[in-house]
Amino acid sequence: MHIPTLIEKKREGGELAAEEIAHLIAGFTEDEVPDYQMSAWAMAVFFQGMTPEETYHLTKAIRESGRVLEYPEGTPPKVDLHSTGGIGDKISLVLAPLLACDEVWVPMICGRGLGLTGGALDRLESIPGFNVHIDERRALAQLESIGVFIIGQTADICPADRKLYALREVTGTIPSEPLIAASIMSRKLAENLDRLVLDVKFGSAAFMKTQKEAKQLATTMTKVGKLMGVKVSHLLSPMDEPLGRAVGPALEVAECVEILQGGGPPDVINAVLDLAEKISKAPRAKLAGWLSDGTAWRKFISLVYAQDGDASSLEKITEVHQAPIIHPLPAPSSGTVAKMDAETIGRAFVLLGGGRKKLDDTIDFAVGFSGIKKIGERVEKDEPLLMVHAQNDQTLTSVVALLVEAVEIS
Ligand code: URA
Repeated sequence: MHIPTLIEKKREGGELAAEEIAHLIAGFTEDEVPDYQMSAWAMAVFFQGMTPEETYHLTKAIRESGRVLEYPEGTPPKVDLHSTGGIGDKISLVLAPLLACDEVWVPMICGRGLGLTGGALDRLESIPGFNVHIDERRALAQLESIGVFIIGQTADICPADRKLYALREVTGTIPSEPLIAASIMSRKLAENLDRLVLDVKFGSAAFMKTQKEAKQLATTMTKVGKLMGVKVSHLLSPMDEPLGRAVGPALEVAECVEILQGGGPPDVINAVLDLAEKISKAPRAKLAGWLSDGTAWRKFISLVYAQDGDASSLEKITEVHQAPIIHPLPAPSSGTVAKMDAETIGRAFVLLGGGRKKLDDTIDFAVGFSGIKKIGERVEKDEPLLMVHAQNDQTLTSVVALLVEAVEIS
């Protein structure tokens, strides 16, 4: 197949056939299609878009560039979540063990944090010993025994996605809806799922800035899922304030422990239940019961043990990772919290050393924010709006200066 012809066809708004897309992706994965041709093609897609069928063929081709998980006959339905990511979004750490309390398997493969948002793997790695790199044989055995694993992306799953994403990052072609949908869905569908729930965030701190864009992405991903035989449901969630009261790997694990022990902030609990309800056969009351009666907590402990983590550290995780400075941000006046801007808090989190600018950056598990007041909450003058966990006075000073913009009291 002549690659320049495929690029030109897309440039002129034509629809590529399944075999043309498969040829392009296979050639790119094998280094036969060079980066400059792939970049030109990605830019053509950026401007011309793709039909739902093309997006499906692209998703399938990317998924087939690597391994797809396989399970023995007759095993329980496989379910998972994909979140487009938000500030303080620790939902997967609670949702995965909660779903596994029912008769389903949860083969969760997730990523690290990049930019303003943290990633599930970073939170888990703040638990001493937790191993996010168990091999497929061990992961499958873990599904048989406890119904859940949470691991990182392996080199042999969707290699085309890794290559294409890296190219898109440097060619201005990240914000293309079909390319985003194919990227996310290929990785999730490599888990060979029966049901998938999407949490598509929108707002200043989210990947999708408006609810309309979030809805459009969710619709495209749902269509792709349907064509691949996977039942996809979704939730559109605003990301104007952080989720819950904690931001930062260890601080968020502590908040997850609270939730799994029957407490925790209502916004996270509700989000977890809203998502769980969409893919679990168990009714909401039963799911809520598993959170409050310790069933999901025991499942989480089994998960941590199964992946070599020190479960005895969970209830003291903020002592295991303790920042030397824990400093309040006082309310400038009495009133009601009108703004707690997630994007500014995300930027402050990166300044503290908790976020990554590049994928190979190391991050600090101890830093972040705790006790974050929620929009609508009443505060008195000088009452802490949040606590900053910082490594030194210098970062504390710059973060406090930034946070002043994040908050409004009415
Ligand atoms: N997240 C992904 O996983 N892929 C994209 O293309 C964009 C965001």
